[in-house]
Amino acid sequence: QREKVQKPDWLRIKLTTGGNYAEIKDMMRSKTLHSVCEEARCPNIYECWANRTATFMILGDICTRACRFCAVKTGLPTELDLQEPERVAEAAEQMGLRHCVVTSVARDDLADGGASIFAATIHAIRKRMPFCRVEVLIPDFMGNWDALKVVMDAKPDILNHNIETVERLSDRVRAKAKYSRSLELLKKAKELAPKIPTKSSIMLGVGEEWDEILQAMDDLRAVDCNILTLGQYLQPSANHLPLVRYVHPDEFAKLKEEGLRRGFRHVESGPLVRSSYHAHEQTDSAAAA
Ligand code: SF4
Ligand code: SF4
Repeated sequence: QREKVQKPDWLRIKLTTGGNYAEIKDMMRSKTLHSVCEEARCPNIYECWANRTATFMILGDICTRACRFCAVKTGLPTELDLQEPERVAEAAEQMGLRHCVVTSVARDDLADGGASIFAATIHAIRKRMPFCRVEVLIPDFMGNWDALKVVMDAKPDILNHNIETVERLSDRVRAKAKYSRSLELLKKAKELAPKIPTKSSIMLGVGEEWDEILQAMDDLRAVDCNILTLGQYLQPSANHLPLVRYVHPDEFAKLKEEGLRRGFRHVESGPLVRSSYHAHEQTDSAAAA
């Protein structure tokens, strides 16, 4: 039996509800939309929504994969909702978003992994809100680079794909994904659209060593990945991947320096950082670089 790791003070945050939070929640329900902000119980939800940033999860809420850190349900999805892109765009408009992140479960049951729905969502948001930035956080499409091209051709403002962890732990943390395939995806994305910034994320606290994190940064820079986010893994339940340790904020700060030294245009690094946290600012500095 593993001893429970005590939650440190820097993760005990006070949640304050405010603004139009309840209203937005109701709107999400009425449009049968899923937001990662709510479903992952993201600690940044009030800040992000107040700052007009939100993350939608498209293509349903049942995933064909079962990564050990993730709280999303696993199963065989049956539906493909062709109206979803329009509803996401309507919701983004009602929320007055400045930065809209669109992500999805892995749909390995679909020939294109859902790429066409990603593209349709980008177009639908653009049509209603030409000034809203659209970031897509995509699955690996099982290495189907034609599917990746469909997404790149829709010209997202940021192409995000997470490696999630260091190479040694990759198989244990996210079965069915491959560290090398994720790097290849980021490389291909750059080849297909050199001007679109790419981004990736690593969660810390699952047993990775310091040097392995630096190696993962080097691997990302070798495929010209531009933006990096580093955050603390929080175990969703006792049945999920065990949390090994809480990384101190000072270490996050040092890793930010290491990342910037390696040439990332922006590094967001801290215990509560999630892939889309401060996404608007991340894009600002990536665009300015
Ligand atoms: Fe939503 Fe991402 Fe902000 Fe969390 S960090 S509230 S998931 S936009
Ligand atoms: Fe969760 Fe994504 Fe893994 Fe599916 S592919 S289990 S949504 S992390």
